[in-house]
Amino acid sequence: MMLEIDDLHAGYRRLEILHGLTLHVDRGEIVSLIGANGAGKTTTLRAVAGLISPTGGRISFDGQEMNRLKPHQIVRSGLVHVAQDRALFGDLQVLENLEMGAYTQSRSTVRQSLDEVYALFPILAERRTQRADTLSGGQQQMLAIGRAMMARPTCLTLDEPSIGLAPNLVAQVLEAIQRIRESGVTVLIVEQNASQALAISDRAYVIESGSIVLDGPAAELADDPRVREAYLGV
Ligand code: ATP
Repeated sequence: MMLEIDDLHAGYRRLEILHGLTLHVDRGEIVSLIGANGAGKTTTLRAVAGLISPTGGRISFDGQEMNRLKPHQIVRSGLVHVAQDRALFGDLQVLENLEMGAYTQSRSTVRQSLDEVYALFPILAERRTQRADTLSGGQQQMLAIGRAMMARPTCLTLDEPSIGLAPNLVAQVLEAIQRIRESGVTVLIVEQNASQALAISDRAYVIESGSIVLDGPAAELADDPRVREAYLGV
């Protein structure tokens, strides 16, 4: 297992949001975590990224316990998070944003990473000198993912990468995520847009009120009447 979350309890101050959440992601997989608004998806990814401290349970990555690590130590270990709000530096250029993502890297690998990100998202190469806040929503999402890739992750976590995007851009972003996996990166995606996420995932988990209530191969979940009714609007 590459990422293992076992009996995780976490939340905000005295408000517990995750009540013993357990899931894992194997090396090379795309796994999605789907669930309704407020179910605890973002909280799960924030705990994994070290942005909130778990009050119980265990998170391990590549065999190493992560609970007490700081966010930058987690990035250095190879696990990189793309937040839902994208957190770009709006007044900096595309290239400068990408370089910010490479702060853990040596100069020599930055050039190679840039080439890889531009191959993944050619539009970012075209717009390299443009300010990030002048990009469209879809381009900003590509930049957020590209910046994360600049840290040369072995595992990427993505919080609702398709949110607010037009359907053709959703397809482009999801296709890029598949290519990222093909390059050897393990992926955990959180999505409300369940049908799209399931279509590119190997396995999936359904979260309700801070616990996993259902899991299995993505294709099976996409056919499950409970998932279809609650999350696919069928
Ligand atoms: P969404 O799709 O809305 O992001 P989610 O499944 O990702 O949903 P979370 O963002 O993890 O859900 O939120 C779970 C619960 O935690 C919600 O009830 C939310 O109101 C609460 N919550 C989120 N952030 C905070 C915070 N900073 N302080 C207090 N409560 C919070």
